[in-house]
Amino acid sequence: MTNLYTKLTENFPADRGKTVLETPEGRTMSYADFEVGSGRIARLLVDCGVQPGDRVAAQIDKSPEALLLYLAVLRCGGVYLPLNTAYKGGEVAYFLGDAEPRVLVCDPQAEDSLTETAKQAGTEVVLTLGGDGAGSLIERSRDLDPEVGVVAREPDDLAAILYTSGTTGRSKGAMLSHDNLGSNTLTLRDYWGFTADDVLIHALPIFHTHGLFVATHCVLLSGARMLFLNRFDADTVIDLLPRATAMMGVPTFYTRLLANPRLTKEVCAGIRLFVSGSAPLLADTFQEFEARTGHRILERYGMTETTMSTSNPLDGERIAGTVGHPLPGVEARIADEAGNPLPQGEVGILEVKGPNVFKGYWRNPEKTAEEFRPDGFFITGDLATIDARGYVQIVGRSKDLIISGGFNVYPKEIELCIDGIEGVDESAVIGLPHPDFGEAVVAVVKRQNGGPEVSAEAIQETAKAELANFKVPKKVFFVDELPRNTMGKVQKNTLRDRFKDSFSSAA
Ligand code: AMP
Repeated sequence: MTNLYTKLTENFPADRGKTVLETPEGRTMSYADFEVGSGRIARLLVDCGVQPGDRVAAQIDKSPEALLLYLAVLRCGGVYLPLNTAYKGGEVAYFLGDAEPRVLVCDPQAEDSLTETAKQAGTEVVLTLGGDGAGSLIERSRDLDPEVGVVAREPDDLAAILYTSGTTGRSKGAMLSHDNLGSNTLTLRDYWGFTADDVLIHALPIFHTHGLFVATHCVLLSGARMLFLNRFDADTVIDLLPRATAMMGVPTFYTRLLANPRLTKEVCAGIRLFVSGSAPLLADTFQEFEARTGHRILERYGMTETTMSTSNPLDGERIAGTVGHPLPGVEARIADEAGNPLPQGEVGILEVKGPNVFKGYWRNPEKTAEEFRPDGFFITGDLATIDARGYVQIVGRSKDLIISGGFNVYPKEIELCIDGIEGVDESAVIGLPHPDFGEAVVAVVKRQNGGPEVSAEAIQETAKAELANFKVPKKVFFVDELPRNTMGKVQKNTLRDRFKDSFSSAA
């Protein structure tokens, strides 16, 4: 019996009356409520025809009931398929057509438009759940018998499919097994020292691995409690900090907290752990946060396909700009394009292997085969280096690597140089088509609010003083904001698209 749901409940507190979740609006749910609520929904899903292995798709706002739905899908042996709420009709049609779920759960307001889309994908059952917890999912399950048991699953049976963000080509469904999720989050619970005394601020979305698995499972596997926000809001988080012991966030959470004058050492006094991940945390943010609050943010690294792979230590030294060591049971190596391991200290592609690594892309064995080495290592596509102490540093995505005049240029190094200039808030370095060089290095810069009016020439001068000539940005563009997705990742493809003609003869 390896159903992840069972693994989670084995770690629930003996006193099921303990509160597991509390919202800023004052709603609470106990561990018993989680068991009963998920049991009722599991019964409804079975009544709707969900069999073990069937997909249940959900495009719903974050709510406590959405977590009950996730647990219910696990209980009945289904495969949970959460969809980003930002996806539009056409995108949802693609996911439904690809995954062919038995049931779709969507916002009540989207029911009319999505019912037809679902039908075309062969999904006959559409249920609704709003961010306020209302909708047919709860109405139809409210009076059902919650004693449904738990369907037995093998370790490799699928628990969830998460579609990747699809910045290159079509989004692919990453198949995650009960064992992938269970083993990885048990490791994290212990690595980060979660106990029943913890109170976690949960302000992440729950259609992504970070909020759904990492944050939620760390709480459930330790019998802890979470303060559950439907979205990140700096003031609300600061109000809650004195009542919490831990927070998990994307880097944007930390920059927004820092922008708020109410963030002080005192409000963070009861916190034992701040975790950051899903996008690179700037060393500046790490340092500013330490200066303001006394806390060294623990940065970790993972991806949809691998769940979490590396982490800075709980007790040892947390080094800014690194993502720490491979987690227990995870192997990591740096290789060239052909998969040959590179000497320590060199930059190459990070490959990882371990119980955390997914089972492949849904109905896409060719793509799966392309992304794995024959010895089972998964090619992450992230460029990284491992230092003599074993700390991994991510220097960018391999698709972001710039090849200018035959030289390899790693954007991160240039971004670090530019970010250090007074008057610069942050920067993104990209490669653009160039008639001579193939690609030209270009910097897109956000100036600091209220800082000195730094010029393109000043930035180029500093880069020239600190970096080899071929790394100096040929052009510098200023923007009000760098485009970011919900998980805080800078969308370099959007920038490449926007500035793509900068070196064409017409430009
Ligand atoms: P996703 O599949 O949406 O979780 O995105 C995974 C990607 O996010 C990774 O392949 C990295 O490029 C990036 N990422 C996640 N965590 C970090 C981190 N701590 N530092 C740098 N990049 C990160």
